[in-house]
Amino acid sequence: MSETERRIIDPTIAESDAAEGPLRPQTLADFVGQRRLCDNLRIFIEAAKNRGEALDHVLLSGPPGLGKTTLAQIVAREMGVGFRATSGPVIQRAGDLAALLTNLQPRDVLFIDEIHRLAPVVEEILYPAMEDFQLDLIIGEGPGARSIRIDLPHFTLVGATTRSGLISRPLRERFGIPLRLVFYEPAELAVIVARGAQKLAFDLRRDGAAEIARRARGTPRVAMRLLRRVRDFAAVEGLAEVDAADADSALLRLDVDSSGLDAMDRRYLRCVAERYGGGPVGIETMAAALGDERDVIEDVIEPFLVQEGFVQRTPRGRLLTRLAFRHLDLPMPASLPAQLDLLAGLPFAEGEETP
Ligand code: ADP
Repeated sequence: MSETERRIIDPTIAESDAAEGPLRPQTLADFVGQRRLCDNLRIFIEAAKNRGEALDHVLLSGPPGLGKTTLAQIVAREMGVGFRATSGPVIQRAGDLAALLTNLQPRDVLFIDEIHRLAPVVEEILYPAMEDFQLDLIIGEGPGARSIRIDLPHFTLVGATTRSGLISRPLRERFGIPLRLVFYEPAELAVIVARGAQKLAFDLRRDGAAEIARRARGTPRVAMRLLRRVRDFAAVEGLAEVDAADADSALLRLDVDSSGLDAMDRRYLRCVAERYGGGPVGIETMAAALGDERDVIEDVIEPFLVQEGFVQRTPRGRLLTRLAFRHLDLPMPASLPAQLDLLAGLPFAEGEETP
């Protein structure tokens, strides 16, 4: 098992359904945070229900663990329709998708996680299915092959992706409702943690919940995992209730520092600082130096480091900020401040690759 897989704060590793299931919010009213997104979604759901139609297709994008799967389930529940879930890499052949689609009831929600990883042949048959609710299939092979057309019930496709930049344009354009999830504020996460503690019958004081929230990298999945681990420490130490100091000592033992960074994050920052003088350094070089996959670095490690201002992604590569050097307690190279100011001003679109 690599270090990445063991990370306590890895938001890509979902807990088992038994652990996450009962804690998932069930309705939009229960769902904390992502206010604008939820307000819009509520209106679209209301309108579709009033018309008695399927909701338009929804694309949810954003880093792992922010609630995309949860929202997809909520959409189905609020619409009062069935829910089926699959994921991009699982649907390998056109027939796999056809089997899923032909089994849907009218207005059902089909959830495809990691939709950016759909095979091109599968994507091709998804287009007419999304647009015209028709499935064009080729039956047989060679000269005897013939194509048949099947009418599908009007359904709602909810796609989720951590990499909206990798979704092909024709696919993206077929989603009437594109929604982007953002990292949560500590105050929102504190509410999520407090509710989770209540459901787990764990006596966590307000300041304890705030401490966990502050160090959960803006991500509910991480917050809930830290909550469970802090509860374990409390149980073993026989604490009746847990405050901020207790949470702090448990989190430090889990190697989650005061900014919510773990050993992996610090290793990344140290690598750029010590081997590459603070950057700029390209993503491929970083992946090779750290022995991690590029996807993991881009999807899991960097978004939070960028959002918190430890790293800047520039057209020339990754660059550490003053804050990062201060956090690592290392002196900043004299040449770096000028680079930061210069490169930070250059345009860098999401989905665009750095060298
Ligand atoms: P994603 O699909 O984006 O990776 P999930 O929907 O699986 O994320 O959510 C991960 C975990 O975080 C789940 O246990 C879920 O209950 C919890 N969670 C996500 N968003 C919220 C929220 N807004 N309020 C409370 N819990 C949340």
